[in-house]
Amino acid sequence: MRLSRFFMPILKENPKEAEIVSHRLMLRTGMIKQQSAGIYTWLPLGKRVLDKVNAIIREEQNRSGAIELLMPTLQSAELWQESGRYDAYGKEMLRIKDRQDRAMLYGPTNEEMITDVFRSYVKSYKDLPLNLYHIQLKFRDEIRPRFGTMRSREFLMKDAYSFDLTREGAEHAYNRMFAAYLRTFTRLGLRAIPMRADTGPIGGNLSHEFIILADTGESEVFCHKDFLGFDIPGIETDFEDVAGLKTIFEKWTSRYAATSEMHDEAAFAAIPEGERLSARGIEVGHIFYFGTKYSEAMGAKVQGPDGKEHAVHMGSYGIGPTRLVPAIIEASHDENGIIWPRSVAPFEVVIINMKAGDAACDTASEQIYAALGKAGIDVLLDDKDERAGTKFATADLIGAPFQVIVGPRSVAAGEVEVKDRKTGERETLTIEAAIARLV
Ligand code: ATP
Ligand code: MG
Ligand code: MG
Ligand code: MG
Repeated sequence: MRLSRFFMPILKENPKEAEIVSHRLMLRTGMIKQQSAGIYTWLPLGKRVLDKVNAIIREEQNRSGAIELLMPTLQSAELWQESGRYDAYGKEMLRIKDRQDRAMLYGPTNEEMITDVFRSYVKSYKDLPLNLYHIQLKFRDEIRPRFGTMRSREFLMKDAYSFDLTREGAEHAYNRMFAAYLRTFTRLGLRAIPMRADTGPIGGNLSHEFIILADTGESEVFCHKDFLGFDIPGIETDFEDVAGLKTIFEKWTSRYAATSEMHDEAAFAAIPEGERLSARGIEVGHIFYFGTKYSEAMGAKVQGPDGKEHAVHMGSYGIGPTRLVPAIIEASHDENGIIWPRSVAPFEVVIINMKAGDAACDTASEQIYAALGKAGIDVLLDDKDERAGTKFATADLIGAPFQVIVGPRSVAAGEVEVKDRKTGERETLTIEAAIARLV
């Protein structure tokens, strides 16, 4: 992408409405635009990051055995009357009437709808286990939308739903998601800690919230410091291996970790003081096992090996991609701007042509731009006719992990500078060596 052809409306001033750094930086870099309270447009720079976050989530969901589909945002109230949640859900649910005066709603979650999909087709235990997920917009009329897309009213959720014949089967489904979540957050450059959680209006009895530690987090959390050093399940993880996944789950639940709603003062006090962590955190994911709550209410039954009908055991598993983007920024920025992990960077490399219009600078910039593009790297060429200082500030602000600085003096010697955004280290390299360094 050439910056002269891109749409990246950088703001010169810090937006006054932004209370936390991620919100400020997302507005300043032109990643998002507020359309009304808690409702956002994802501008091109933000969309690139969001797409990469979704791609990682999708890869890890697929790897764990989950299967993607896409359910609609609008749902019929009838489904929710069947489960009994239509009245229970309260004011967070946006209720809509269509022209036939039918009661509709903008889905805040999809347990009812997926249960309906399931019961329409699956009749035998032989078709289990099954885990279906989608990445779709949700609407919750939050009483206090704030911090940009961290707590918005319209937001994206990856929500997966598992179906099993037995409680043991459902536990394996839960452990699959548990391991997939650990892998997902690590690939996003985050350390998320699974904490025992309240099951809230979704109900059930086994649940973990995945929490990123951050001063600006809305949750108060308590855990053991050991979580900061636990190993993440590797690429070789076998998601069919029941015992292997149980071992991972047991390891990651072997220490105290709870949000304030589930906090047990006495248990926490039993941890030696130097090993306690009391902090604030951001909920980026949440997994639930809720047994037959919806399958009983909505008649999602399969024939078992015994020839009898059994209500299926279910779980649901959410991740918030539009919350993860600001969460990554909260975890990775400095006074000059964002520092993206390479895995989700909108651009992995920014080429700064310090003197656009100068033949030698243009030729070198184009050569590097073409070579990196050919290697499949997401590269932004700053070919605008602007002061070098402005270009450096923009590159730092938008946070690409690497900058290639092409200036008239070094180019005359056949060289360019490569700057690491995170460490600030600069290396002078020949053009070929710079390309080799970045691919
Ligand atoms: P919170 O406690 O922050 O209100 P929740 O517990 O109501 O979240 P869940 O029902 O567990 O949310 O939804 C799954 C995931 O969806 C959350 O872990 C979070 O990542 C994301 N999410 C929930 N509400 C919002 C929101 N208003 N804006 C952005 N993401 C959200
Ligand atoms: Mg909520
Ligand atoms: Mg919550
Ligand atoms: Mg939750």
